Amino acid sequence: MAEGREHHASSPGCGSGFDPPSYAAEFSRWLDQALADPVFSPLASLLAPDVKERIARFVVEVVQANQRLNLTAITGAREAAVKHVCDSLTCLLAGQWPRGGAVCDLGSGGGFPGMVVALARPDLRVRLVDAAGKKVAFLASVVEKLGVGASVRHGRAEELGKEPGWREEHDVVVARAVAPLAVLLEYALPLCRVGGWFIAMKGPDYQDELAASRKALEILGGRVDHVREIRLPLDAGRRALIAVEKERPTPASYPRRPGIPSRRPLV
Ligand code: SAH
Repeated sequence: MAEGREHHASSPGCGSGFDPPSYAAEFSRWLDQALADPVFSPLASLLAPDVKERIARFVVEVVQANQRLNLTAITGAREAAVKHVCDSLTCLLAGQWPRGGAVCDLGSGGGFPGMVVALARPDLRVRLVDAAGKKVAFLASVVEKLGVGASVRHGRAEELGKEPGWREEHDVVVARAVAPLAVLLEYALPLCRVGGWFIAMKGPDYQDELAASRKALEILGGRVDHVREIRLPLDAGRRALIAVEKERPTPASYPRRPGIPSRRPLV
């Protein structure tokens, strides 16, 4: 996401003094403050102290790896708590996430929202997918280190959307900051089962993208059920969750070959 870099005493990049315990403590204070926002009350039962502690450990791993991997522009403790973790949790507020369901985070990058979802909802079978090998390697190492019940796959949506075991196999597909909606629909809807959901995590100016997605929805078998507008806590800005229900099977000719959906969007 196009966000500015924050500088805190405990952030990396401000000299050599990144201290994981003090970063984790500062992060946890911001997270508790942010989660007090009423928007998160439906999720309160998921966020037990041990879950929040695991989320803090995950964020420390992201911030440390970021010094090598350039996973994110957001590393300050306050911004990471709100713009990464709270933002990631919001996807659980749209669509339907059945107990034990199969979930795919497409273009997971450093693990947002998928790792946070996997930590908050251990009942779900979460798959983290990314086309970038170094990000996948990071995700695999952090999944193992934290013992998270998620699996990691290096691959492109255009290929997985044709693959048995992936095509039309997910109750929920979610994506944040991956592509314009019309392109994203061609990546995500082939992976959703009929009756399943695609949750696109967007900024507040989603209306033009939504209007440009009618044709893609029609071709690929989706219907926008609702758009949930969210105000992030601590005045961190507005977001929108576009909740698409898959109503009909996707025709076998979609997704098209790698690179085609973004070069020739279904608009
Ligand atoms: N969701 C994360 C990362 C966003 S960056 C976050 O919000 O922080 C976008 C990511 O999508 C990149 O890591 C990129 O490698 C991945 N990506 C883009 N197109 C893709 C495709 N067709 N298939 C799989 N991954 C893709």
